[in-house]
Amino acid sequence: MTENLNILCQNQLKIVSKLNLYSKEFINRLLHPDNEIIVNFPVTLENGKTEMFKGYRIQHNNLLGPYKGGLRFHPICHLDECKALACWMTIKCSLQKLPLGGGKGGIKFNPRDYSKKDLESISKKFSRSLSKFIGGKVDVPAPDVGSNSQIMDWMTSAYKNITDSHDNSTFTGKSLNYGGSEGRTEATGRGLMICVRRYYNNRNIDTNGKTFIIQGFGNVGSFSASLLASELGMVCVGVGDHTGYILNENGYDVKELTNYCKNNGSIDGYQTEKVDKNTFFSIKTNIIVLAALELQICNDFANKLNCELIVEGANGPTNLGADKILEERGIEVLPDVLVNSGGVVVSYYEWLQNESKNYWSREKVLGKLENQMNNTFDKVEEIKKKENKSWRTSSYILSLNNLYYSYQMKN
Ligand code: NAD
Repeated sequence: MTENLNILCQNQLKIVSKLNLYSKEFINRLLHPDNEIIVNFPVTLENGKTEMFKGYRIQHNNLLGPYKGGLRFHPICHLDECKALACWMTIKCSLQKLPLGGGKGGIKFNPRDYSKKDLESISKKFSRSLSKFIGGKVDVPAPDVGSNSQIMDWMTSAYKNITDSHDNSTFTGKSLNYGGSEGRTEATGRGLMICVRRYYNNRNIDTNGKTFIIQGFGNVGSFSASLLASELGMVCVGVGDHTGYILNENGYDVKELTNYCKNNGSIDGYQTEKVDKNTFFSIKTNIIVLAALELQICNDFANKLNCELIVEGANGPTNLGADKILEERGIEVLPDVLVNSGGVVVSYYEWLQNESKNYWSREKVLGKLENQMNNTFDKVEEIKKKENKSWRTSSYILSLNNLYYSYQMKN
């Protein structure tokens, strides 16, 4: 049976609560989201038929600022998944000391089954249905799996129409033509690369020639792979996506593979010989980057991995059973809440630019992102050394220390 993502998230919180650093009431507050919103809305499609869609928005916690988090368009999107992802957004924003809370949502459907025109209609209708619950000072959605800047533009346009406003700050991850920020599209992958670089730099280890395999080659995966190769001289020896897995010990030309995926929608057909998931994850490599979906490395499956470091670009890809095995095996895991937080950091920059109507250069955005990621990484590492805890627990401690102060001030 597939594990419930919200239980994984809650159990991670419970591990930290056992350290007795925070009150029971505070942890209990985090175990329950503030608001659980479900909207059902009809959309008339290009073929003339009208279909019902179910959308979710979880507003987890706004102690630090407006709820913030992505919208997932995926056939298995459901309420408990959104609850976990929203809670991780609260942890992430607090870890990075952003004046933002945690939220997450989505629609349960497969966007690959619909035309561009239908996707536009579905996105706009979803935005209308959510409009009374969101806003630049209340709840600010962004892209996630299955959604992108085009979808954020459509949702922004519908929101502006229904509220009769010029408000660009209700959604982030928009295109540059429509109030988006320089550097946002690549921000999550770039943040991941910065974490990997910092990890090895802090140990005086050269990254040149180190190998990695990567699961997921969408927004996070393709930018991560491309930057690990171009900035750190690392070699991509394996790639997997929803169509399967491929390996090449001589390394892939990541640029070429990215272009192939842009034109063909997946890695399917890039290389004729596919391998199964077991073979893929058993290969000897320096790093495994998880950039697809949750719950990919669970329990005993962790015994198969043959690497020195796991980097979580995706949210919740490793369960607690696997975490334990990896710790025993001496394989370090750089956790999601730290590694993929570059996305929300630049979403925050986008929001600031929208609110102030003052737009920044790409150099300014990337420079600020670099400083922010390095500073947070070093703070987590300091806690890790002092407390002798995992990277995940150390990240939670840094995040919850910040959040706890605001909680105590408010109560
Ligand atoms: P995306 O839709 O752009 O790409 C998802 C990738 O995962 C695709 O390559 C897809 O083929 C692959 N995939 C889907 N199902 C799979 C399966 N069963 N097995 C193997 N591969 C599969 O999504 P994304 O935005 O790149 O998000 C990926 C992960 O990163 C998610 O967990 C998301 O929550 C997280 N994340 C994304 C952002 C962001 O800015 N986009 C920020 C933080 C975290």
